[in-house]
Amino acid sequence: MKTPAIPSFVPEHLNNVTNATILKIVYKNPGISRNEIARISGYSSATITRIIESLLKEDMVEEKGHRSLPKGRPRKSLFFKGHNKYAIGIDLGTTYIRGVLANLEMDVYKEIEVVTEAHKSPEYVFDKVCDVVEKLRNTTLVDNTKIMGVGLAIAGIVNTSTGIVEYSPAFNWRNINARELLSKKIGLPHLFDNVSRVMAFGELKFGKGEEYNDFIMINVGFGIGAGIVLNKKLFYGTDGMAGEFGHIPVCGDGLEKCTCGKNTCLTAYASGEAIAKRAVRKIKSGKKSKLVDLCEGNFQAIDAKMVAEAYSMNDSVAIETFRESTEYLGSSIAGLVNVFNPQAIFIGGGVSLNGPAFWNNMEKSVNSHVFNHRSTKLNLLPATYLDKAAIYGSVGLILDEVINFKLPGKQKKDS
Ligand SMILES: [Zn+2]
Repeated sequence: MKTPAIPSFVPEHLNNVTNATILKIVYKNPGISRNEIARISGYSSATITRIIESLLKEDMVEEKGHRSLPKGRPRKSLFFKGHNKYAIGIDLGTTYIRGVLANLEMDVYKEIEVVTEAHKSPEYVFDKVCDVVEKLRNTTLVDNTKIMGVGLAIAGIVNTSTGIVEYSPAFNWRNINARELLSKKIGLPHLFDNVSRVMAFGELKFGKGEEYNDFIMINVGFGIGAGIVLNKKLFYGTDGMAGEFGHIPVCGDGLEKCTCGKNTCLTAYASGEAIAKRAVRKIKSGKKSKLVDLCEGNFQAIDAKMVAEAYSMNDSVAIETFRESTEYLGSSIAGLVNVFNPQAIFIGGGVSLNGPAFWNNMEKSVNSHVFNHRSTKLNLLPATYLDKAAIYGSVGLILDEVINFKLPGKQKKDS
């Protein structure tokens, strides 16, 4: 849709809006010329000149070289200047807190991983998050005055307006004021969202998701969730609960309980934790398995990765476990495909790293359940950044604020 032309003079209060509009055009079209921007935006050449000068002055864009055209005069090319601005991305998982310091072009300078200790209080966990941020910030690798903010991915239902984690079965949290806990110690702007949504956002900003308008990111880790992207935007639903894919009911055997307490949720059948529990249950029922040797008799040490290792050794318990769990997952994904008709499904999270044990079975299950009268091949793809999708997406949260001219110092939230 073409933006209507506006006069060369733009009132001060509209400056950020128009600057953000032009900055977004430059970001989406690296190497674009001023004339092309004028054509796309519908703004006059004089307005574009003024805005570009302002963006150059604010160090948001750079103008490079001369690009020869088949006809006419050579032109200069404009680029978003993300390489000298930085963000800290944090994936707050129930097992590990992972963090990176990266520039806004996703070159990573520093990485930290610490154990979460999720059983301790929310205050303790968020203190740990703040420590990780401080360690990442305390560096001579980059100009740390140019760290624009901190993005976080949190497992749970996150209200992005209030900054409250309303419910997180994985952490056993209800109504935790994450913004307040973070504001006490992080002296940088910070933003957070549900982990699966952040993963989808990262895929959209930095990954293969850029190629698609509509896609769904499925996160299969300790729990299961989904981030839905429709027309290149995250879909939140009325109460921000869209994507709670792990809690859709499946017709299973009801042997394990979900973290939310129900025994009908997909998470209870197909998450990393469920895979481990279901394998242990089979062994305890008397089935022979190489897992007994692999875990050296300590069943608590069994995780999805170990079950996948046993799978590669042709272990019958591991084969049965993965076949069952991926059947639950695959049939549920087929349901999503039938409802949303997306261009692609991306799958990330720790369980998706388990090679053929996961992918072969899951693809088979999806394809056998999906309703597809055209027989077109569904793009069922691994998340571009695999188990780091959430951290990269967290950096993407800050990138988005910068491109929308809400950072630095202009956003309404914490600073
Ligand atoms: Zn549940």
